[in-house]
Amino acid sequence: MSRVYNFSAGPAVLPEEVLKEAAEEMLDYRGTGMSVMEMSHRSKAFDTIIKEAEADLRELMKIPDNYKVLFLQGGASQQFAMIPMNLMKNGTADYIVTGQWAKKAYQEACLYGKANKIATSEDKTFSYIPDCSDLPVSEDADYVYICENNTIYGTKYKELPNTKGKTLVADVSSCFLSEPVDVEKYGVIYGGVQKNIGPAGVVIVIIREDLITEDVLAGTPTMLRYKTHADADSLYNTPPAYGIYICGKVFKWIKKMGGLTAMKERNEKKAKILYDYLDESSLFKGTVEKKDRSLMNVPFVTGSEELDAKFVKEAKAAGFENLKGHRSVGGMRASIYNAMPIEGVEALVAFMKKFEKENA
Ligand SMILES: *Cc1c(COP(=O)(O)O)cnc(C)c1O
Repeated sequence: MSRVYNFSAGPAVLPEEVLKEAAEEMLDYRGTGMSVMEMSHRSKAFDTIIKEAEADLRELMKIPDNYKVLFLQGGASQQFAMIPMNLMKNGTADYIVTGQWAKKAYQEACLYGKANKIATSEDKTFSYIPDCSDLPVSEDADYVYICENNTIYGTKYKELPNTKGKTLVADVSSCFLSEPVDVEKYGVIYGGVQKNIGPAGVVIVIIREDLITEDVLAGTPTMLRYKTHADADSLYNTPPAYGIYICGKVFKWIKKMGGLTAMKERNEKKAKILYDYLDESSLFKGTVEKKDRSLMNVPFVTGSEELDAKFVKEAKAAGFENLKGHRSVGGMRASIYNAMPIEGVEALVAFMKKFEKENA
């Protein structure tokens, strides 16, 4: 068996320990004689799995009691619709557009009400986070929406926007559990788990209870109402059971690693190795404003498309996978999520140094 260093933006690297444990439990989950994939979501064994997963997540993120944790399906993209359908009571919401994912969410919201783009960084290909200290937040906005870490462009809000008292809704797909968060600052925090937590198929929504109401947009399907899932503790219908089981294992792995403070330190250390090199290299350059750099997704270029392609190809041959940048921006991108070991980043930088020398 040989494992590569996988820099994919998602689905992405998972902790090896977790994968090994899952493999050991594949045929017979703790004496049940079956795999978690094969068991009823109403069984005692699964009940324990989902309850423990929620409890561990609550502990990790210090989620207050007046927030619900929902394990849903449909990916992060389903939330682009669910959020306006459930939260647009006044029919108005403000969006800060800092990349493709925020833009898609904004465009989706336009289908359901008045969505206002109150700030954007599209003028410079989303290479920075706009100043959000005094935005023209709408008087009747039901919420202000952000994508907190921009997976494609590699930017991250270092400070949350001043929403002037309005509910903050955040897509944290690509920075979920990468550092401590103050849940109370948000009305809704959500993310697809396939970036930093588990296998594709699960989306986690952390939502303040007062936002879960029956007063939703007319025609909202039962499955797209937060209340349906909150009332049933995420078991209204068959949940993505195996995915939730793996997420639960990753929560336990993070707890063992020291929790979110330790994750942040580790992630800062990893990102620094790569950013420091990008700053000193005469071949490779980072593409975003330094103050807005993401700890999770690190895009870079050589300045020559030909050399970029050569780098990606040679890197792949040397065991560094998925370094090609998003199809919309080109260049390279190294996603260095929680489960990427520090050795992976060190090895990548050593390889980049060698490439730089050979191609000077
Ligand atoms: C990947 C990603 C999405 C889309 O997730 P799906 O689960 O494929 O719908 C949305 N937002 C962000 C920030 C992402 O990184």
